[in-house]
Amino acid sequence: MRIPLESLEPKGRENCLCGSGERFKNCCKDEWRKYDYTKKVNSSDSPVQRLIYLRAHITWYRLCHMAHTVPLLQLKHYDGELLDVDIKALCELVQGARELYGECGIIELYPQMLGELTTAIDDVRWRWAVSCEEALFNLAIKNDYAAARAVLAKYKWQDIRSSELLEVYLDAYSDKLGYIDIITLASKVVELTDSESSRFHYRFLIAIQYFLLNESERAEILAREAVAAYEAIPVAERSVHGRRLLGMAVMQLGRILNDEAMLRNAIDLLVAEVDEKNYKSDAIADIWLQVGECYHILRELYMAEKLYHRSLSIEPTPLANVFLADLQVAMGRPERAKEILDALVPETMSNPNRFDYAIARCNVALFTKDSSDVKNALGLIKKLVAKEPFFKDLIQGLMVALYELPAENGVAQAGSILAKINRYITLNPNVAGVGVNFNAMIDDYLNSKSQK
Ligand SMILES: [Zn+2]
Repeated sequence: MRIPLESLEPKGRENCLCGSGERFKNCCKDEWRKYDYTKKVNSSDSPVQRLIYLRAHITWYRLCHMAHTVPLLQLKHYDGELLDVDIKALCELVQGARELYGECGIIELYPQMLGELTTAIDDVRWRWAVSCEEALFNLAIKNDYAAARAVLAKYKWQDIRSSELLEVYLDAYSDKLGYIDIITLASKVVELTDSESSRFHYRFLIAIQYFLLNESERAEILAREAVAAYEAIPVAERSVHGRRLLGMAVMQLGRILNDEAMLRNAIDLLVAEVDEKNYKSDAIADIWLQVGECYHILRELYMAEKLYHRSLSIEPTPLANVFLADLQVAMGRPERAKEILDALVPETMSNPNRFDYAIARCNVALFTKDSSDVKNALGLIKKLVAKEPFFKDLIQGLMVALYELPAENGVAQAGSILAKINRYITLNPNVAGVGVNFNAMIDDYLNSKSQK
């Protein structure tokens, strides 16, 4: 028995099925029959045209779901195959709507659409998908962690079986979860995800937790295994997100292990990415900054300086300036370092950047041993808040060493502590209570989510 789609249409005064919040008669009523949804969308259409089409597509799809899938669910021995297809297809349509809402300048209405679509499919996986989008909107677009957590509060993460939702959960709660929970959560993502780059990302994240737990040996094994597993994937099959992660991961590992070959490999991997046309200028600037960092660690200081300048010329960021200042100290130019740092306003920086800024000031103080530089560095260090015992101890030690700076043993002490901090600083996702720095860049973040 075939149910005609028309018989399932909402009444004219009822809300449209597409999630626009408009009455059906004013929205998709006359639209949904117009198109052939098996054809590809005409990419030369305006975003508004594509949105009208997409809304009609969602409406049509929901009618089909009601006509074909819902009756099957009443059957006793139904295998659920069509339901799986529906959930996947509607997820893709909703993600497409997120993009189009952005292009049309109505992204603020996106949560309303999600609210309208919550009941589109009566299945927990669909509700997970909708919550995932809603939390992601709050995290990546609004940068509102509290709102994202409010969305997720209705779930116990132990019950979630969606890798996407777990990933968002991990981000939203990154500064509230302990190491063990992070490791368990990330392990679930590794197990559930069908995206190789996500698997790599969370395997590496697990390794980082072991580094922070001071279990370096285990951490190193896990990190190397994660990198090797992703490297085993042919380059052509790696996603943009995965390639970018690989460059960063190899750099971080090279820094921790002080492994020259690894750092040179990181440079190659990163440089190969700068021509990627999907990147905006801030992402390119970030890649050059990381290449510069590799040279900095390798003590090829002139090369590092050149690349920091290249990064700054594309997109000047406080972090690139802090790195440049740090480099000036290494090059024996503390006055130039101070000029650069003086021009920055740490109060306006993000927490992790402020951490880097304070460390750069410490490096200056260590070099000059000038009492006003020491005072300046101490003032900044005192304000740092770190959750991890590892960093807490280092900061404490650094303060003591700075107080004793004029004495030679203070110099040695502060120097070795700073070296340790520099090795680990990029590993720490939670310095001063800030989220996973892998996801610091919104474009990257959304790319990684929509590439699945
Ligand atoms: Zn509609």
